[in-house]
Amino acid sequence: MRAVRMTAPGVLEHTEVPTPEAGPGEVLLRVGAVGACHSDLHILDAPPGVFPTPLTLGHEIAGTVDTVGAGVDGWSPGDRVAVYGIIGCGRCRACLRGEENRCRVIPVGGIGLSRDGGLAEYVSVPASRLLPVGDMELTQAAPLTDAGLTPYHAVELARARLRPGTSCVVIGIGGLGHMAVQILAATTAVRIVAVDTNPAALDLAGRLGAHQVVQAGPDAVDRIRELVGSPPDGADVVLDFVGAQPTLDTARQVVATGGQVLLVGLAGGTLPVRPVADEPPTVPMEAPVSVPFWGTRAELREVIALAHDGRLRADVQTFPLAQTSEAYEALRRGDVHGRAVIVP
Ligand code: NAD
Ligand code: ZN
Ligand code: ZN
Repeated sequence: MRAVRMTAPGVLEHTEVPTPEAGPGEVLLRVGAVGACHSDLHILDAPPGVFPTPLTLGHEIAGTVDTVGAGVDGWSPGDRVAVYGIIGCGRCRACLRGEENRCRVIPVGGIGLSRDGGLAEYVSVPASRLLPVGDMELTQAAPLTDAGLTPYHAVELARARLRPGTSCVVIGIGGLGHMAVQILAATTAVRIVAVDTNPAALDLAGRLGAHQVVQAGPDAVDRIRELVGSPPDGADVVLDFVGAQPTLDTARQVVATGGQVLLVGLAGGTLPVRPVADEPPTVPMEAPVSVPFWGTRAELREVIALAHDGRLRADVQTFPLAQTSEAYEALRRGDVHGRAVIVP
């Protein structure tokens, strides 16, 4: 079958590989759609040894059950499913609580991360990773599993602060950020302030429920403070889906005393935390900072429910498998709006 693999650090190849089989407890899926996540670029850019090679990329997968392996109950050929991508150890304190995104044994285990992913005609996955999606388009189902789930989990972590009349600043309105705006609009009554360098992303944010938009740049902090208040007031929650130095600097300067910063983006910036109130500001007093990772299976089920109810819909740009490299190049250039989705 055809597959798109990282054959060495930084090297993405379109190649032929044997079609996998469904091992015990596994299901072989005919891949219907795979989201191109910015994390795939970070995986490609990672130093040798961090991720195994060769590795078929693609951790945002939806498909149709082809065959079921020994010992698998409850799934039949033809079932349409979304794949929960994380594979925890299943035994540690966190996994036993259903928090596989906090596994204490395998910190970033997953389909397309530590074993072959979905950028291929078929992928075999543990049956426990499947959630039904009914008649939803698979190009819509795939982005729910990460671009939908990760912001949903971040919003869950901040939900106590997301009360009516509060404000949430969302930085980076790409694959994850455009879903975050919709999740906030659908599940909270907060004022949503969207921030991006790209005017087209800000247009999208406005259409999806952002109340105000701010172009990222030298005066962004002042502009955001005009909307959410100046220190010690500010945004109740800041979701940073970029994680570069300029966005983290913005986040810490616009969050309120007692607000909350959630750093989702992996662009390599640093957020100093220092318990003093002098300049330059680090993080205000009483403001927790967290680094959420993906989400839980239970949360993915809720994300799928939001989509079924018509409250969450990815803005999708599709590419055939043969154009996967072009899709990633477009993502790197910042030319993708919403989510690029590969259709094998
Ligand atoms: P994306 O490329 O689709 O979106 C990024 C958006 O940020 C774009 O709209 C871009 O214009 C905007 N942007 C870039 N630089 C900016 C800046 N300086 N100021 C404001 N906006 C800026 O990426 P994505 O797939 O949505 O992923 C976003 C980040 O989240 C990536 O770093 C990815 O690796 C990470 N991620 C983390 C998790 C997790 O579990 N923590 C999960 C998935 C993705
Ligand atoms: Zn991802
Ligand atoms: Zn575990």
